[in-house]
Amino acid sequence: MTQLDNNITKAKAYLARFEGSGVMNQIGGKAQPALSGASFDNHSPVDETFLCKVARSGAKDIDAAAKAAQAAFAEWRDMPLANRKKILHKIADAIEARAEEIAFAECLDTGQPLRFMSKAALRGAENFRFFADRAPSARDGQSLPSLTLMNVTTRTPIGPVGIITPWNTPFMLSTWKIAPALAAGCTVVHKPAEFSPITARILMEIAEDAGLPPGVWNLVNGFGEDAGRALTEHKLIKAIAFVGESRTGSMIMKQGADTLKRVHFELGGKNPVIVFDDADLDRALDAAIFMIYSLNGERCTSSSRLLLHKSIAAEFIEKLASRVNNIRVGHPLDPETEIGPLIHKEHYDKVCSYFDIAKQDGATIAAGGKAPQGKGFFVSPTLFTEASPDMRIAQEEIFGPVLTTLTFETEEEALEIANGVDYGLTAYVWTQDITRAMRFTDKLEAGMIWVNSENVRHLPTPFGGVKASGIGRDGGDWSFEFYMEQKHIGFATGAHAIPRLGA
Ligand code: NAD
Repeated sequence: MTQLDNNITKAKAYLARFEGSGVMNQIGGKAQPALSGASFDNHSPVDETFLCKVARSGAKDIDAAAKAAQAAFAEWRDMPLANRKKILHKIADAIEARAEEIAFAECLDTGQPLRFMSKAALRGAENFRFFADRAPSARDGQSLPSLTLMNVTTRTPIGPVGIITPWNTPFMLSTWKIAPALAAGCTVVHKPAEFSPITARILMEIAEDAGLPPGVWNLVNGFGEDAGRALTEHKLIKAIAFVGESRTGSMIMKQGADTLKRVHFELGGKNPVIVFDDADLDRALDAAIFMIYSLNGERCTSSSRLLLHKSIAAEFIEKLASRVNNIRVGHPLDPETEIGPLIHKEHYDKVCSYFDIAKQDGATIAAGGKAPQGKGFFVSPTLFTEASPDMRIAQEEIFGPVLTTLTFETEEEALEIANGVDYGLTAYVWTQDITRAMRFTDKLEAGMIWVNSENVRHLPTPFGGVKASGIGRDGGDWSFEFYMEQKHIGFATGAHAIPRLGA
């Protein structure tokens, strides 16, 4: 038996528990199907086989979950902070203990390669530990005395919140959004993506097994247009933390308007990596390849536009093309695989449509540009060259293992191209000139920038985008700013003069 056969057998054994009742909702601590009894089928992107049924929920399920979250709120908010911290650490311990199950389930459900997913659970556990340690200080405020008043600020959790996550690295992203909400003292209704529901269910079960009181974390599965929409419109839900496409963010903002929802959006990107002629080109090459071809290119922070200085472009592209042609596409559970199948047919069709768009617009396909025959949503890692900044392949988020290269002559031109898109999530700059790096990063329109580095996440730093890439920041204390209300209280320190009307 090969390692792959072995992994497939194990993965199927882990998923066997979802045969029969499928992936259920969890409301007020109880596993339940959708109240209407409706469900939908979840297929694997690897070979399109049936994986499990999933509860297809609607407004009634969301209403029950929001009420459960409201009922659990006071107890969770008022729990001694040391206890809250302990529970969140226990969740992290349990995630680590089930790391293999989580990784294997994620691979089969999303098509993400094991080489990356084997760390997904550890990253998720790290998110819980980071916010667990901050839970005791979540309520902290400032003392801002004036002449007549002792002004203090304090923070209180905003209430039950809705969290809506996408299908790319769904486990890691769910922990990233839910851990700070719980640490802040909020209760949660989570609506995971319809295309990747399995690990969200495992995560929620882990949390309740670790001692999270019933109703603090409710899980409602279903489609965006019904369950997702109802969540954003529910009166008891005070805020929506959303990760997904920019146009969905815009819809959510409209949907939440009547109930004045606070929103936090982590949206799409068309992130540039800019390589100047003085850069360490070998390292820049490794980083550019990693940032677009890892995680199947289904990564919001992927470096999907490569801007090369003209003097180095030809040689850089030659090396790049030969590396791209070497990338191993295969079964996500094969430890050798570097790129697995895309999440679903609709997304696969969208990514493949850019092969024709590139040709029609006059770009060159220097590698890939095709989909291997057979079952599953596999595409070859693709490289577009001879592109210009106004082409669709240089403007639109493709969200697959597809890189567009562009060239520039001057720093000003590089900046104009880099900023010339609707998005502004991340940017990557390669140069040995520190003065240029400072000048250039100051003008770049992006929420997160790395200089001479790939994306290396450091949890205390702010995560988020500008322009169509998002609103708000996560990480460090920024997460608490979103999930909590600031309160100011002024205590008079004496008998200061109060204006006397009608006296
Ligand atoms: P999507 O917007 O289609 O769906 C995301 C979630 O929103 C799903 O759970 C979906 O059911 C729900 N949804 C859809 N319509 C809704 C509606 N009207 N009301 C409420 N909920 C609704 O996104 P996707 O295709 O699942 O994910 C890929 C996108 O996510 C990409 O654009 C990617 O860049 C982005 N993303 C951004 C970040 C970031 O941090 N900026 C991180 C990961 C992914």
